[in-house]
Amino acid sequence: MADGELGRIGLKRSNLFREQCYIDGKWVGEPEIEVRNPATRGVIGRIPNLGRAETLRAVAAAEAALPEWRALPAKARADVLRRWNDLMLKHQEDLARLMTAEQGKPLAEARGEIAYAGAFFEWFGEEARRAYGDIIPGPAADRRIMVMKQPVGVVGAITPWNFPAAMITRKVGPAIAAGCTVVLKPSELTPYSALALALLGEEAGLLAGVLNIVTGDAEPIGQVLTEDPRIAKFTFTGSTPVGKKLAAQCASTVKRVSLELGGNAPFLVFDDADIEVAAAGAIVSKFRNTGQTCVCANRFFVQDGVYEAFAKLLAEKASELVVGDGLAGVTQQGPLINVKALQKVEAHVADALGHGAKVLTGAQRDSQGGTFYQPTVLRDVAPDGLLAREETFGPVAALVRFRTEEDAIRMANDSRAGLAAYAYTRDLSRSWRVAEGLQYGMVGMNTGLISSETLPFGGVKESGIGREGSKYGIEEFLEIKSIVVQL
Ligand code: ADP
Repeated sequence: MADGELGRIGLKRSNLFREQCYIDGKWVGEPEIEVRNPATRGVIGRIPNLGRAETLRAVAAAEAALPEWRALPAKARADVLRRWNDLMLKHQEDLARLMTAEQGKPLAEARGEIAYAGAFFEWFGEEARRAYGDIIPGPAADRRIMVMKQPVGVVGAITPWNFPAAMITRKVGPAIAAGCTVVLKPSELTPYSALALALLGEEAGLLAGVLNIVTGDAEPIGQVLTEDPRIAKFTFTGSTPVGKKLAAQCASTVKRVSLELGGNAPFLVFDDADIEVAAAGAIVSKFRNTGQTCVCANRFFVQDGVYEAFAKLLAEKASELVVGDGLAGVTQQGPLINVKALQKVEAHVADALGHGAKVLTGAQRDSQGGTFYQPTVLRDVAPDGLLAREETFGPVAALVRFRTEEDAIRMANDSRAGLAAYAYTRDLSRSWRVAEGLQYGMVGMNTGLISSETLPFGGVKESGIGREGSKYGIEEFLEIKSIVVQL
């Protein structure tokens, strides 16, 4: 079976498939835990089941590598990151196929993610050389204050399965650029993208111990990464409940913490919007990665005057999406990651239908079986149902009608999440009012696609702490040191 799944991926360079972890520049551990393709449920391969002892060893390796790595000129670190990006692009097709096999997303999206992921290496390599400090006029004539930026130290990182490469490079890129070293636990559902990246990092010139990857039992690994005093900074992307628990664990050693947690993005369509543009943006925002991104639109608020037309258009477009195995070239919607995800989607849809929502398209499992679910559009959804309160993380667009701008903003802000929001209007004044009124870390105005390496990505409220990407992203891995000079 394993041969079959691996054979279907068809890697040109077979050693990008690694079934061992990477600690202190060595490939370690025995393949034990099965990793399955969500489209076929077939076993792709196995990964090591490491725990506390090996994670402690990885932390020791990262600590030992720190003095040499941080002492390198920024340009030397930037050179490694640039070569790493080059290697990712050189092997883009293999990396994309590996990602689709373990994660399920359509191949075109996986190729896009590899380019997007590599861009963080390139960007932060460039930013490494601009970690400027300050000279501040002193409080007395004979005093000066200097500010310098220094790497925080050893970083612990835990990443999710929905973007198996980009969620890693968005943390590892700025950390390594800043002069930090890293111990990373990828999701056990999508470890192969992480391990392939480690191999390319080694080829790009990473020193042993600068990046360490451990797979296995999440809890003991997470405990070391959040509680070991040698780790100065912990960075996590994943679900809100797990993020809260890990942040609490970090309190015992007062680590610096960055969190990218769940969203529940509102998508506002006003009467003065171009509804063709809005429907196209809605498809991108809602159905990318089968609805499994933290910035996916989850609640659609549509104004009275365009409600009927928008609903019809969105349902038409959604029903045309081709569902299937991501490795088949024509696929636009892959499977959900696992049965738990499928059950959550079904529960949200059942709840909405129980409260009077109507089905415009989908609302059932796809005939291909497994975890395939049909792209779904529901209308007349109650604004206080499960779909509105919780992040669905699946291909379901829930339409709620509104009358006034104030109502729309109030409903959009009625959430403990605050990651991304979207709004469509051609009125310039309204676009400013709405963008400023939405309590979200990011607002897509007349666009459903906001992410790039140059965007400060992050949320407010319970969606997280800190920003990734952009010139701000490297600050998360730099400490400010103030030096007071008496002349
Ligand atoms: P999702 O529900 O989207 O899978 P999770 O928050 O469960 O999101 O997973 C995100 C990452 O957090 C994964 O790498 C997962 O293994 C890890 N994780 C989950 N629970 C824990 C835990 N108790 N301690 C450490 N890591 C965890």
